[in-house]
Amino acid sequence: MIQIEQLTKHYTQGKSVVRALDGVSLGIEDGEFVAVVGRSGSGKTTLLDSLGLLLKPTSGRVVIDGTDTSRLKDSTKAHLRVDKIGFIFQEYNLLASLTVMENVMLPLGYAVRPNGDRAWARTLLSEVGLTDRINHRPDQLSGGQQQRVAIARALVNRPSLVLGDEPTGAVDSETSDQLVAIMRRMNGQHGVTFVVVTHDPDLAAKTDRIIRLNDGKVLSDEATAPMEVAV
Ligand code: ADP
Ligand code: MG
Repeated sequence: MIQIEQLTKHYTQGKSVVRALDGVSLGIEDGEFVAVVGRSGSGKTTLLDSLGLLLKPTSGRVVIDGTDTSRLKDSTKAHLRVDKIGFIFQEYNLLASLTVMENVMLPLGYAVRPNGDRAWARTLLSEVGLTDRINHRPDQLSGGQQQRVAIARALVNRPSLVLGDEPTGAVDSETSDQLVAIMRRMNGQHGVTFVVVTHDPDLAAKTDRIIRLNDGKVLSDEATAPMEVAV
């Protein structure tokens, strides 16, 4: 469970202040799959990076599983991040010199007590359909395949939360559909909470809940209409 309480993030530039987040309060339940949408500049990335403990808020709090992260020192926050949070980026952010398997294993090297191992990495790579690409390097893969590696990497340390900033922003719509299906499956099978920032209405429609930001405030926060099931 994540609670965001009266979160603000202000950037000062000369005399002007940008209120990137302007009093956001939200609760996110374990296992939810949430989309964050809104115009460019509405504060989506700032909210996601605050949730990911990558940014220090100006005021307010992010409480993760009962821990008020605003009270933690940086090193404790870094450990919490490695233990609990996985990240997926628009541009995949794989290391070009490493193989697929080495890329997936990477977060385990940062963990104090890793929650995964090579066998688990292999399982995840199988779940994203890349068993036959384990020893390839990123530049030998398509964009969609690289993002599947990134999804496996985000899950390898068994986080409770995965954050994606435009995870389907760099691929075509068919590939996007495949990536969404994989993320939903990971969400369902492993009970991991997903929060994804997206411009993609198809992706947003496949989540449980859509939070719309405008000028750093929550404009709307609604459960997604259940998808029609073909009979
Ligand atoms: P989004 O992801 O919705 O496009 P962002 O969270 O990146 O929006 O940005 C929200 C606002 O904060 C924008 O007006 C942006 O210009 C501003 N902003 C973001 N990061 C910085 C920064 N490091 N310094 C100054 N202003 C920033
Ligand atoms: Mg952004």
